[in-house]
Amino acid sequence: MTTRALRAEERKEFLNRGFSRRNFGRIATMLTAGAALPFYNEPALAQLSMRNGPIPPDAVKIDANENPMGPCPEAAEAIHNIVKSGGRYMYDLTGDLRTALAETEGIKPEYVHPYAGSSAPLHQAVLAFCSPQRSFVVADPGYEAGERAATFVGAKTVKVPLTQDYAHDVKAMAAADPNAGLLYLCNPNNPTGTLTARENIEWLLANKPAGSILMVDEAYIHIAEAAVPSTDLAAKGSDVVVLRTFSKLYGMAGLRAGAAIGHPDLLKKIQNYSAGALPITAVVGATTSLKVKGLVAERRKAIKDVREDTFAFLDKHNFHYVPSVSNKFMVDTKRPGREVIDAMAREKVLIGRVWPVWPTYVRVTVGTRDDMAKFKAAFLKVMA
Ligand code: PLP
Repeated sequence: MTTRALRAEERKEFLNRGFSRRNFGRIATMLTAGAALPFYNEPALAQLSMRNGPIPPDAVKIDANENPMGPCPEAAEAIHNIVKSGGRYMYDLTGDLRTALAETEGIKPEYVHPYAGSSAPLHQAVLAFCSPQRSFVVADPGYEAGERAATFVGAKTVKVPLTQDYAHDVKAMAAADPNAGLLYLCNPNNPTGTLTARENIEWLLANKPAGSILMVDEAYIHIAEAAVPSTDLAAKGSDVVVLRTFSKLYGMAGLRAGAAIGHPDLLKKIQNYSAGALPITAVVGATTSLKVKGLVAERRKAIKDVREDTFAFLDKHNFHYVPSVSNKFMVDTKRPGREVIDAMAREKVLIGRVWPVWPTYVRVTVGTRDDMAKFKAAFLKVMA
């Protein structure tokens, strides 16, 4: 394991952000020793919230917003072919992914930094921009992983309820804390699968507290037809970082590819917290996927069809759900959601977790048609 001493300017930057000697010591130790961060992502959160034992082999797994389609055949073939080169780091392949993603988004390659998924840049951005004096501002219900990183560095998390129509309340987020370090906006949101309008994202960028950074997490952007990406805002060099992942529409959650998109100076601040080459399997899978014509539209439609069929079922039986445009939705169980999760697990249908702010709602991932047929049968039984 390589170690390095903290540079004087890094030390100064930490102290400027208001780290106490104790907190600072913790981060310094982590950076200099290359220690692993406490790490949370969707499967870890799913596991923490609901399971102790192994998953039964015949269980329906619709709890972690995964894509049952997996990587597209072209990506699978490219991954298969690269395996024999696995003895090499092959950094140039990461360069190819950077170029391919930059081309897809119409931005300069230096504005793209590939990662093994998007959890890492999300955590590392919190470490880079939050501190005991610089809070983390997030929607409620929202994706919780960033909050864990904020707790780790002693930063406060300020939770801002969604609006009546389940968008981010950008006015309230801008006003939440004048000392905010990072404002996190997930579009479409996890867990609700709902969109925040582009004009409101622009408004937040123009009106956020001085010195804060806006992060737009676009993990699910490809799945929502009407979603407007924020990559062009990141390309303009403003204080905004966009996260992308190949874990969702591209079906590569277990392969691990993603990216942070933003001004090179911002990306550098996040990069300071990570090291190491990316898995070449993931990198070629991601690059190949980007080049498959029609893949996004085709998969988006497949997910939409199953989602709409599931919503028709929920309507028919008068269940209330949040109108998602993504690959998951929140449904109201009218009782503690935890009870329903446990009862569904007994039916071998594993659904997602509850957010404390909406204790009767559970999150369900849109699986295959077969998965959702089993979901419907189990849900009717459990809710009877
Ligand atoms: N962001 C959001 C909103 C997510 O839901 C997830 C995972 O489900 C992630 C980021 C991290 O995913 P990954 O690290 O697989 O890219």
